Amino acid sequence: MELVSACLVGVACRYNAACRTDPELVRRFAEGGLLPVCPELAGGLGLPRPPSEIRGGGGAEVLEGRARVIDREGRDSTEAFVAGAEATLALARAAGATEAFLAANSPSCGVGEVYDGSFSGRKVLGDGVAAALLARNGVRITRVEGVPAAAGPIVRRARLGDCGALARLAGQLGYPCEEGDVRRRIQKYFARDDMAVIVAELGGEVVGWTSVEATPYFYLETCAELSGFVVDEGCRDRGIGRLIMAEAEAWAASRGLKLIRLRTNVVREGAHRFYERLGFERTKTSHTYSKRLD
Ligand code: SF4
Repeated sequence: MELVSACLVGVACRYNAACRTDPELVRRFAEGGLLPVCPELAGGLGLPRPPSEIRGGGGAEVLEGRARVIDREGRDSTEAFVAGAEATLALARAAGATEAFLAANSPSCGVGEVYDGSFSGRKVLGDGVAAALLARNGVRITRVEGVPAAAGPIVRRARLGDCGALARLAGQLGYPCEEGDVRRRIQKYFARDDMAVIVAELGGEVVGWTSVEATPYFYLETCAELSGFVVDEGCRDRGIGRLIMAEAEAWAASRGLKLIRLRTNVVREGAHRFYERLGFERTKTSHTYSKRLD
């Protein structure tokens, strides 16, 4: 399995919550051949976030303590960039990755050249911080330019205008509801940082969503739980579910969560195969009970 910068396969994780995709990598990702990672989200940086550049060299100098990563507002975010690079290397080791396709010019993923810290468009020779750490540890790094995403699916956070589509897709999941219900219930997802609704958009239409929450337990580590996940019946087997899941995992990683869990109906065999292909393990089979109190 090879690594790929998540923004190159459609995850809208760049500083401006956009992506620059590469069609060939998108195709390989949809077939399950690439493992996406966003070092900056893995390092705990938010989305959107101010752009950052390396001042005083490239990623190698950052790792040696001779250069710093500074955002456009003047804040030093070196620690987060190094943490993200280390998380990326850990992922590469866990996956046995020997190659990584990385987005050009980024202070994390850039290969060969990065912006020089003056926010003036000037570049210097060097790699991004994650790229430098991967290369230093024997992972072959390949620079990929990418193009602004146009026709392919993109993932992003849900907006109020999506509520009609979210309700329609919830019906496909077996939870029929009205747009107004969704509009009312989704407000807390917008207000809180420990929960999110992620949607996939194709041709301007929302064609899938997941809701993910950081769930605390006193007897377990806090984990990310997917409380719903659906891709439009007409858009399945096109890598869209994989893209949504990559964004959910990036969201969890950006909050320091090490475990992601979900429940799925025992009759959804296609969904079981999908989750297992993504590396999920079935840990138990249980019954769900409910009781109305009104
Ligand atoms: S850190 Fe890498 S994967 Fe994340 S947005 Fe920047 S270039 Fe893309």
